[in-house]
Amino acid sequence: MKLYNTLTRSIEEFVPVEKGKVKLYTCGPTVYHYAHIGNIRNYIGHDILDKTLRYLGYEVTRAMNITDVGHLTSDSDSGLDKMEVAKKREHKTSKEIADFYTEEFFKDFKKVNCRMPEIISRATDNIDEYIKIIDKLLKDGYAYISGGNVYFDISKLNDYYVLTNHQIDDLVVGVREGVEEDNRKKNQADFVLWFTTSKFENHELLWDSPWGKGYPGWHIECTGISIKYLGEYLDIHGGGVDNIFPHHTNEIAQSEAYLGHKWCNYWVHGEHLNDKAGKMSKSKGEFLTVSLLESKGYNPLAYRYLCLNSHYRNTLMFSYDIFDGASREYQKLKKKTLSLDNDGNVDEDKIKYYDDKFKEALGNDLNTSMAITILYDVLKDDTMNGATKRCLVAMFDEVLSLDLLVEETNEIDEDLKNYIEEMIEKRNNYKKEKNFEMADKIREELKEKGIMIQDTRNGTVYEIIG
Ligand code: AMP
Ligand code: ZN
Repeated sequence: MKLYNTLTRSIEEFVPVEKGKVKLYTCGPTVYHYAHIGNIRNYIGHDILDKTLRYLGYEVTRAMNITDVGHLTSDSDSGLDKMEVAKKREHKTSKEIADFYTEEFFKDFKKVNCRMPEIISRATDNIDEYIKIIDKLLKDGYAYISGGNVYFDISKLNDYYVLTNHQIDDLVVGVREGVEEDNRKKNQADFVLWFTTSKFENHELLWDSPWGKGYPGWHIECTGISIKYLGEYLDIHGGGVDNIFPHHTNEIAQSEAYLGHKWCNYWVHGEHLNDKAGKMSKSKGEFLTVSLLESKGYNPLAYRYLCLNSHYRNTLMFSYDIFDGASREYQKLKKKTLSLDNDGNVDEDKIKYYDDKFKEALGNDLNTSMAITILYDVLKDDTMNGATKRCLVAMFDEVLSLDLLVEETNEIDEDLKNYIEEMIEKRNNYKKEKNFEMADKIREELKEKGIMIQDTRNGTVYEIIG
């Protein structure tokens, strides 16, 4: 299998540390808000990597963290604590925020058929591990205490910027616009391992440590969780391109300083999902979720299909026009796969021929759009009987996970969907005309039929409950 490795900036043959086994770590969500469809694109990419490795015969152990502490709005050491921001917004405790958004995250994660990693661990459940690592970094001279915080000293490393290959000046935190300079740091790119000072009154998430009551920096959680559950050698680490710096750069610095040897061999980064305003981000306030798409009548797997039709290292553009096209294509594809008969004997030679092609496509740096083209080639191949085609579709779907042979049970009837959409449009027109009486009448009429509607920032959505 070939993978593009950010560390070497080249496509390389993948060779795990232990033959046949893969230790895979992927950065998980920060649970202070819903995951938008950009975040979900990232997890679909990780899921394809995970399933491709399994399909190729590797025994994979995958770990993913849940960030419920320490992630500041700048991704560095300045800005607001994301959990504190959410607490203020929703008047809840940190735990309530984390529990709620973790649950919501996994709902959407499962809706797009992402497989649950073997290990899922919350940042707040591993504080002892971070303290152990930071303690050693201090003893070994890689870290220092200043103004109450513990910092990692990047000048102690030969090549702190190994992952980015960037000029240091481009990246030094403190010279970038909008990022505060921290005069407690020896070098401006030093980063916090443990905070004991907080800008927040009544900061809720605090733990005792040898350096005072405080909380861990964001980056240390991935080092701690990865080493605790996957050991000292990691084969592949995944994330989005925005994680390369500072998050993954800092993970490498502290992990290798702690371990005393190279930590992870392959770094895989997915490109972003953009909308017409640019990168989709949680801080923009307005964003789309998989559940919202579903409530608008789309199948979440149509979103997975859209993602798989582009390469994970290319930026993907989202608009409803584009998504409508992908959604129609997905429905057509599924209609074809579901209509396959099971006649005849499975032709093993054909299976091998197409399976090899499919493996080659995915093994070529996860070329999912090529893998889908091979699926279409199978469906078009007149020399194969239904049983052989069905068998191949089932095999490919182990990785693609598009439920190609699963009959829909809760697909909304087209006529009903059209009726609801017409009624919503009518109601919106009444609202525009400020005829609220008629608008409310339509809401009531739908309610009587068991259709609940709700106005959101992204338009009116509905749920059929009766
Ligand atoms: P967060 O929950 O904010 O920590 O982000 C979770 C993951 O989503 C990170 O690994 C990011 O790299 C990734 N991510 C954030 N925005 C986008 C986007 N617009 N498109 C794709 N991935 C994204
Ligand atoms: Zn991480």
